[in-house]
This record gives sequence, C-alpha cells and structure tokens, in this order.
Amino acid sequence: MRLVIIGAGFAGMYAALSAARLRDIQGVSPDEFEIALVAPEPTLVVRPRLYEPKPETLTAPLLDVLKAIDVVYVQGSAETIDTKSRSLQIAADGKRKSLSYDRLVVATGSRLFRPNIPGLAEHGFSVDSLDDAVALDKHLHGLAKRPAMNGRDTVVVAGGGFTGIEAATEMPTRLRDILGKDVKTRVIIVERNSAIAPDMGAGPRPVIENALRKVGVETRLGAGVASLDASGVTLSSGEHIEAETVIWAAGIRAAPLTAQIPAERDNFGRLLVDRDLRVPGVQGVFATGDAARAACDDDGNYALMSCQHATRMGAFAGNNAAAELLGVATRPYHQKAYVTCLDLGDAGALFTRGWERKVEMVGDVAKKTKQEINTVWIYPPKAERAAALASADPERVTNL
Ligand SMILES: Cc1cc2nc3c(=O)[nH]c(=O)nc-3n(C[C@H](O)[C@H](O)[C@H](O)COP(=O)(O)OP(=O)(O)OC[C@H]3O[C@@H](n4cnc5c(N)ncnc54)[C@H](O)[C@@H]3O)c2cc1C
Repeated sequence: MRLVIIGAGFAGMYAALSAARLRDIQGVSPDEFEIALVAPEPTLVVRPRLYEPKPETLTAPLLDVLKAIDVVYVQGSAETIDTKSRSLQIAADGKRKSLSYDRLVVATGSRLFRPNIPGLAEHGFSVDSLDDAVALDKHLHGLAKRPAMNGRDTVVVAGGGFTGIEAATEMPTRLRDILGKDVKTRVIIVERNSAIAPDMGAGPRPVIENALRKVGVETRLGAGVASLDASGVTLSSGEHIEAETVIWAAGIRAAPLTAQIPAERDNFGRLLVDRDLRVPGVQGVFATGDAARAACDDDGNYALMSCQHATRMGAFAGNNAAAELLGVATRPYHQKAYVTCLDLGDAGALFTRGWERKVEMVGDVAKKTKQEINTVWIYPPKAERAAALASADPERVTNL
C-alpha cells in the first residue's frame, strides 16, 4: 500500500514525519507500506523569512531526514490527479510519470494572488516564493548602481497585513545596508482598509502604528494600488508615488492543484475538510496546511494560512491518512492555542496570544522570540530517525 503526500512545505514535511511515525509505532515495514513525498525540490522553503535579506539562504534540506524515516522522495510537480483511479501524473525534467496511491495528502500550500492590475505583472515584486524573494533582493542590490533620483530610494508595499508589515518594517535597514547609511529612504504601505493590519483588531494596533513611526514607514490607508508603471504606482485616490520598487503583498490563494479535487472549496481555493482533515465525498483524499480549510476548535475558529497551523495540520493529516491504511483510529485535528509574532524591523516585534490577540510581548523581548521561531522552531528536525519521528506526534506539534 502507498500513501502519497504532495508538497514539501511545513504541512507536507510534518505529514511525512507523522505518517512514518505511526507506521513505526505499528511495527509495519516500509516495504509493506510506502510513504512517498512529491515535490519539485527536496527542500523546505522557509517562507515566513522571505522578507529578510539573503533569501537564497532561506531553505532547509529535507532529503536526509526523509531517508532517515524511510520516506521516498519523488521529484516533480503533480500536474493532474485522478481521484477515481487514485493516481497522479507527475512532471519532472520534461518527462511525465504516474504514481498510484491508496491515500493522498494534498499539502500543496499557497501562493500570492496577483490581480489583473495594469503593470503589476511587469513591475511588481513580492516576497512570496523563493524565486520572488531572490528577484527582489537582486533588484534592491541593483539600485545601488542607479542615480539617487526618480524614486530609487522609495519602496511601496501594497498590502498592510502581516506580510506587508514585515516586508515594510525590514526595508529601511535593508535599503540603508545596500545604498549607504545616510540615504534618505521612503517606505510606504498602501492598504485598502481604513486601518493598518486589518486582521489584527484594535488591541495590538497601537504597537504596530508606533513601530511604523519609529522605523519611518508611512501609510496610505483607504486606498488601493490602481496601476503600476516604470515610474511607480498610482493609487485609487489619484496619488502617484514615484518608486523604483513596488512589493505586492495583498492576497493569497491555495495552490491551483486543489481545483482538481472534485470537492467544495472556500474563496481562497482551500479544500473544505472534516475534523480528520479528510476531503468529504472524495475517497482516500486528505488536505492540509494552506491547501485546506479546517475547524481548529469547537468555538468556530478556523485554521489560518499560517506556518503555525500548517505544521500541526500536516502532522494530523499524515497521521490520519496512515491510520486509515494501518487500520487504527484517526485523531481529530484540534489547535486551541494561537499566537502571532510579527516582526517590526528595528522596532522589535509584537507577540500576541489568543484569537482576541492579547498583547503579551513587544519590542526586543518579542524580537528574541521571533528570531527563535524563525531560526529554530520552524526548521525541519535533524536527520536522526528516533528524534525525527518523535518530533511529529500530532498532539505535540506546535503546541504553543
Ligand atoms: C513573507 C511571508 C511571511 C510569513 N510569515 C508567517 C509568520 O510569521 N507566521 C506564520 O505562521 N506563517 C507565516 N507565513 C505563512 C506561511 O509561510 C504559510 O502559511 C506556510 O508556508 C504554509 O505551509 P504549507 O506547507 O501549507 O505550504 P507551503 O509552505 O506553501 O508549501 C507548499 C509545498 O507544496 C509544493 N507544491 C505546490 N504545488 C505542487 C505540485 N503541484 N506538485 C508538487 N508539489 C507542489 C511546493 O513546492 C511546496 O513544497 C508567511 C508567508 C510569507 C510568504
């Protein structure tokens, strides 16, 4: 029998680890029960850090850890899924191969949604994927060779949510490191809503507003980006901002593969799943991480498209898909604890707890936690079999 996991992000990695853990606990050999992980590269892209400098360093190898837990890595991109015959078509190096499954875990994550705004495709940068972040970094370094005029030192960030704020607050230092410490940088967040960080609620907002003031990030609220061209952006308010760098950070969608599963999806393209993270009505298919919309408690809260949720959801999906094949009980996914830790550049960070987002830490103390999350917690476990398997007990993963 074979369990196939598509995706090597936080959810896919933990799905593989927890499925292998349960197989090990049940004393079943990898010859009898194969676990295969399909992804274009055997690396974890540390997406939550892609707003940082040196993005090319923000990956972690997975091959050794997969080998240590007897998970087969299949290189390629899943192109089509046939849920009736339970098989995938995978494209790799210009060739196609097929792979059958008894259980499938869709962990294909998400990607930035780029609306059809004039000039966005040609002039917009982002920090969404590794390639995007590397392209932005290269562009920022290239600015040093250009004359200090025409908005060279100005960066517009479209979107005042978590990603936009992290990218913007990091930017003044990043620009000064590249262009010289005396350069007068201008960083502007454009947010359609009337308040910055619309999802954060009113409680923590003053901390963010103070931080923006401290690091010198301006905002334009209640206005959207209407168009981009080589000179900068024009806002829906009519204002034109000269900027050589525009970062799009407004909107995210589940990766397109979810559309191939004949099941219900939400507005973000996420597959609706039951408490075991199974896709109802489609035999043998589970969805997890940013590819799934799952209830995480009985109080009406749903998992967000976040690393924090993806990691734990991955562990439950892998465990449950394996449990069905091994004939043992599944475990309903639940995730009561929810925290946010928002990087605020030189102004430190903001740490909140609970869905009501109670501020628990700010400034340097919160920044230490952010650094620990971003450099330790979210990285794969070491390639040591026992420790790696133990790290994937679904009840313990991301139990904050
Ligand atoms: C700049 C930025 C900052 C962020 N900050 C935070 C933060 O502070 N805290 C937080 O919790 N979250 C944060 N996030 C969100 C977090 O990164 C995502 O929620 C998380 O990566 C989701 O994990 P995932 O495994 O579901 O998907 P992903 O990490 O997107 O991984 C998806 C995997 O699927 C693979 N894949 C996709 N399609 C296919 C296919 N057809 N075939 C084979 N493989 C495929 C991809 O190559 C990848 O390996 C941030 C994201 C960004 C971009």
